[in-house]
Amino acid sequence: MRMIFIGPPGSGKGTQAQLLSQRLGLLHFATGDILRDAVAKDTPEGQRAKPFMTGGQLVPDIIVNDIVNARLRSKNRPVKFIMDGYPRTLAQANSFDAVLKEQGLDLDAVVFLNVGDEEIVRRNGARWTCINPECKATYNTLTRPPLTPGRCDLCQHLLYQREDDDPATIRRRLQYFHEQAAGILDHYARQGRLIEVPGRGDIEAIYASIVKALGK
Ligand code: AMP
Repeated sequence: MRMIFIGPPGSGKGTQAQLLSQRLGLLHFATGDILRDAVAKDTPEGQRAKPFMTGGQLVPDIIVNDIVNARLRSKNRPVKFIMDGYPRTLAQANSFDAVLKEQGLDLDAVVFLNVGDEEIVRRNGARWTCINPECKATYNTLTRPPLTPGRCDLCQHLLYQREDDDPATIRRRLQYFHEQAAGILDHYARQGRLIEVPGRGDIEAIYASIVKALGK
C-alpha cells in the first residue's frame, strides 16, 4: 500500500502515519524527520535547509524533491510506504507523480487529516518530543502526556519542545500550510484519490476512522 498523509502541522498526522505504518508494515517516510536528521548531522542538505526550518518556512522544493527522488531511485527503494509531510506544494506533488510513474508505483490513497487552526495552536503548544535521536517519540500534555512529566516513556530520555512549535511559528506554518494545501488537495481530488478524515478525538478513534475510510 502507498499513501500520502496531509494535515496541518500538529494535526496528528505523524502519530497516525506511524501507527498505520507499524500495523500495516509500511515505511514511514517523513521528510521533516529526514531534514532534522540532516541538520543535526550538518550535511550539505542540512546546512541549506536549516534557515528555512528554524524560520518555520518550507524548505525549497528542489532540496526536498531531490531527497525523495534519491530514496525512490535507490537500490533498496521502498515500495510500501506512507508519505508524511510530503508533498507539501503543487510542484512537489507533480515531481512525486513523475517519480512514481517512472518507478512504476501507483498511489492507493491520499488521506487529509482535517483539524481547525485554533485547535492546532492549542495542541502544538502542548507537544513534547524525545531528545533521543534513536527514539524521537512525541507526547502531548493535553492528549497523550508522558507517564513522568518531561521524560520519555519508551527510553527515559528528556523531552523537549521543538523550536518550530512556538505559537508565532505555528501560526506562520499554518499560513504556509493553507497557502499550499488547497492546490494539493485539489490535485489529488481530481485524481480521485483524496479521503478526508476529521482529526478530532482520541488517537485510536481517529485511527479507526482512517482505516474505515481506506476500506471504502
Ligand atoms: P514536519 O516535521 O513535517 O512538520 O517538518 C518540519 C519542517 O521541515 C517544516 O516546517 C519544513 O521547514 C521542513 N519540511 C518538511 N517536509 C517538507 C516538505 N515536503 N517541503 C518543504 N519543507 C519541508
